[in-house]
Amino acid sequence: MPTSRDYYDILGVPRNASTEDIKSAFRKLARQYHPDVSKEPDAEEKFKEINEAYGVLSDPEKRRRYDQFGRAGLGDMNGMPDYATMDFSDIFEEILGGFGFDFGTSRARRPRRGRDLQMQVVLTFEEAVFGVEKTVEVTRNEVCSACRGSGAEPGTSPQRCSTCGGRGEVRQVRQTIFGSMMQSGPCPTCGGRGEVIPTPCRTCRGSGLERKTVRKTVAIPAGVDTGTQIRLPGEGEPGTLGGPQGNLYLVISVQPHPFFKRRDNDIILNLDINVAQAALGAEIEVPTVDGKETLKIPPGTQPGKVFILKGRGVPYLRRSGRGDQLVIINVEIPTRLTKEQRELFQKLAATLGDTPKPKEKGFLDWLNEMLNQ
Ligand SMILES: [Zn+2]
Ligand SMILES: [Zn+2]
Repeated sequence: MPTSRDYYDILGVPRNASTEDIKSAFRKLARQYHPDVSKEPDAEEKFKEINEAYGVLSDPEKRRRYDQFGRAGLGDMNGMPDYATMDFSDIFEEILGGFGFDFGTSRARRPRRGRDLQMQVVLTFEEAVFGVEKTVEVTRNEVCSACRGSGAEPGTSPQRCSTCGGRGEVRQVRQTIFGSMMQSGPCPTCGGRGEVIPTPCRTCRGSGLERKTVRKTVAIPAGVDTGTQIRLPGEGEPGTLGGPQGNLYLVISVQPHPFFKRRDNDIILNLDINVAQAALGAEIEVPTVDGKETLKIPPGTQPGKVFILKGRGVPYLRRSGRGDQLVIINVEIPTRLTKEQRELFQKLAATLGDTPKPKEKGFLDWLNEMLNQ
């Protein structure tokens, strides 16, 4: 049954309480009402209520919705905390650890996955289009080759910790407001590992890890773009206590090309032709990523006309096929004329008349619409 009390009242904080205030109020109440600790009959209900209030007020977005609309603002959540996005573990460990509950293995002994690493890889435009093999240098921690990660100088071995007898934790009886309690915590001598290293490895100074720069050759697939991530499983840092290796992520960054532009899998080329070519038609060589290709410009080609070279774009990353190359025509109007050209244009002008007429939607409008879709 979700509670109907005000979340701020439940935690006993004012409506303008800071995140820290909310957290500390929650910890205090959670200690007081934890069902394993509290003798009060309704402790479990209270504890749930506290958790629910904390789940909402500790999340800035949920808190904002709650402030504005009350419980209704939380919709289907019904005020229940989103456990998936909250890290209760440290809070509970602190609460329970402080009261002498054995929390199983202590933090230091838990196997952990190694850290993920990230590296930027810069490609030229063509490398991104066609794929490339790249050798990257990654500097990371590796298991020490001298001691194989044990941290003990070769020829010696780690020994069982005499303080905790290898258990990794020590217990002591403490007087608390609840009476005598058995307190347990990580062993101060071995830090919870259960063993000590009398002669630390000289290569890694006992850490079991070595900083190394390794070279990796990676096949970058055709069609990547700026922001594409390539995951190299197990190429991150080593895990601890048998945990798996982290991953290495290569983040692609593509350099701009002097005249090709990319829009998803299409390549765009702006091409200048002269007035005569536009009016009379022409055959022009245009660059594509596959080399030069002849483009037929029909007579009467207007500025903004787009020619499509099918399949001359960027390969799709996750399926076969390629995008297209779009050639956008710009008609250059000459700014300086020779005497002869001036005379020819004047003759031309005489045949064309001089009455401007309003224009209906043209290619440039169409192009703008297409590009802004
Ligand atoms: Zn070592
Ligand atoms: Zn110990």
